[in-house]
Amino acid sequence: MEEGKGLKILLVENDELNIKFVKIVLDRLGHNTDIATNGLVGVDLFKKNDYDLVLMDLEMPELNGIDATLQIREHENKNKLSRVKIIAVTAYAMDTDRQSCFDAGMNDFLAKPFLVEELIELINKHFYDSNEFISNILVNNN
Ligand SMILES: [Mg+2]
Repeated sequence: MEEGKGLKILLVENDELNIKFVKIVLDRLGHNTDIATNGLVGVDLFKKNDYDLVLMDLEMPELNGIDATLQIREHENKNKLSRVKIIAVTAYAMDTDRQSCFDAGMNDFLAKPFLVEELIELINKHFYDSNEFISNILVNNN
């Protein structure tokens, strides 16, 4: 990622309202977001593009988030690519679900429903220091 620039994000999510909500927040923060409405499309887009971050729903038609993550990690391994950050964004918040996300190779976990601030903090934690984070907010709120 180039400093001061937004992230290239892949949002893999089948819920329309959630897509709209997350997309608005990410646009506002200056990130560039592609959307996949199921895991199959998500893996396909991942193979064709270069992403900094994947936000991954768990329960989706065609291919769920766990299996999509396994396929992404397999593709990275096979092609000796560096590992993209994958954050689960899901209504499943039990510890066992959390563990299966990490076991599949995800880096972090965000339970739905979540506040805008929680999403921002999570992205900040993985990609920005706090000063950059604050200036991003200030710039984008003008
Ligand atoms: Mg879903």
